[in-house]
Amino acid sequence: MVVTSTERVLIAGAGPVGLSAAAYLTRRGIPVTVFEAEDRLPENLRASTFHPPTLDMLAPFGASQALIEQGLKAPKFQFRDRANGCLAEFDFAVLADDTGHPFRVQCEQFKLNHLLHDWLLAQGGADVRFGHAITALRQNGDGVTALVETPDGGQEAFKGRWLIGAEGANSVVRQALEIPFEGFTWDERFLVVSTPFPFETVLPDLTLVNYFADPEQWFFLLKVPGLWRAMFPTRPEETEEEIFDPDRIEVRMQWAHATATPYERTHTTLYRVHQRVAQSYRAGRAFIAGDAAHINNPLGGMGMNGGIHDAFNLAGKMAAVWHGESDDGLLDLYEKQRRPIALDYVNSQTIRNKQNLEAKTPEAQQNFRNFLAEVSADRRKTHDYLLRTSMIASLRAAAKITA
Ligand SMILES: Cc1cc2nc3c(=O)[nH]c(=O)nc-3n(C[C@H](O)[C@H](O)[C@H](O)COP(=O)(O)OP(=O)(O)OC[C@H]3O[C@@H](n4cnc5c(N)ncnc54)[C@H](O)[C@@H]3O)c2cc1C
Repeated sequence: MVVTSTERVLIAGAGPVGLSAAAYLTRRGIPVTVFEAEDRLPENLRASTFHPPTLDMLAPFGASQALIEQGLKAPKFQFRDRANGCLAEFDFAVLADDTGHPFRVQCEQFKLNHLLHDWLLAQGGADVRFGHAITALRQNGDGVTALVETPDGGQEAFKGRWLIGAEGANSVVRQALEIPFEGFTWDERFLVVSTPFPFETVLPDLTLVNYFADPEQWFFLLKVPGLWRAMFPTRPEETEEEIFDPDRIEVRMQWAHATATPYERTHTTLYRVHQRVAQSYRAGRAFIAGDAAHINNPLGGMGMNGGIHDAFNLAGKMAAVWHGESDDGLLDLYEKQRRPIALDYVNSQTIRNKQNLEAKTPEAQQNFRNFLAEVSADRRKTHDYLLRTSMIASLRAAAKITA
């Protein structure tokens, strides 16, 4: 069967980015069809941090308030080391004039997928097709056609005016468009261990987001409702069998904080980590956004947030063109605004975050501590720093790019 109406936007992937774009377009009265390869909304545990401007963007869909209710408000975060405890603590309250949400929310990313999907269903006519994997695309002056594998194993073709590839790092759309995914993969993989152990009772000054610098093994400790997540780098030569060995996981957890009894664990997941940005974000009527366009290490919580910012940027431009408020050239501005942010801001900031935490030489460690002391001591510097870490600065920088 061929769906011939081009009066819609096709979206590949019902992750946070695809569903954000779908929600924005639906709100502007534009029909969308979302294709999700899985047979239900994926419940993966990757992102846990929602930044202030992302909450501002999600508020009109009721999602920010729901994330606050289902998650944890985290107004502060810390840098620490094991010997000295807190090195610096930052409070998003200084951003009260810059955002409606001067705090992070700690909440599992899959909850946002459910919230946006429920919002789409509540609008009536939402077309989210599970078990539909996009496999190829064709395009011409009239529209774009997505070839989709259906749950019965068949193939269907769907036509639309534009297509957004938001199907994650292995994006079929990006590959079909032959867009290089430039960058590198870190040698070490990251191990995330979730535990109900109440770290806040043994380290009472802990905040909900804590980065521990250490030349031997840095780690972070983040809280989501009911659980703490510890993330460690693994050594490149460690095999998966060694990494998942319960005794070795226990050694890592004891390194984070020594306890009299072994840690209870609920999840243990290993991630390969990359720093890559697609060479372009648009080819004709097809666009890529989110992990399909850029991936980075999770230090700073910028991947999903940046992807949602892509989705709102692109969907806003599509809405303006759709409703005749602007010509098609506006759509070129999406890549011009968002790609430099992925390269110069998210990529470089997340690499710097990793380098600061793993600093090996006493000089590099001291430099990082001096930086933290200098920023903490000066309100203007704290404000600038939090504009950057909250990603508000990246959105302002993108908005200044007008051609
Ligand atoms: C350990 C870890 C922690 C992280 N923490 C944070 C954090 O705190 N904050 C943050 O901002 N980011 C974080 N990230 C990054 C974040 O998880 C990703 O950036 C985010 O999931 C990207 O969303 P997306 O919608 O682009 O892609 P995805 O979430 O990958 O969604 C893509 C969807 O497309 C579907 N799909 C795939 N192929 C097809 C196809 N061919 N056809 C149709 N559908 C398809 C998939 O099933 C999936 O549902 C973290 C990542 C890791 C690994």
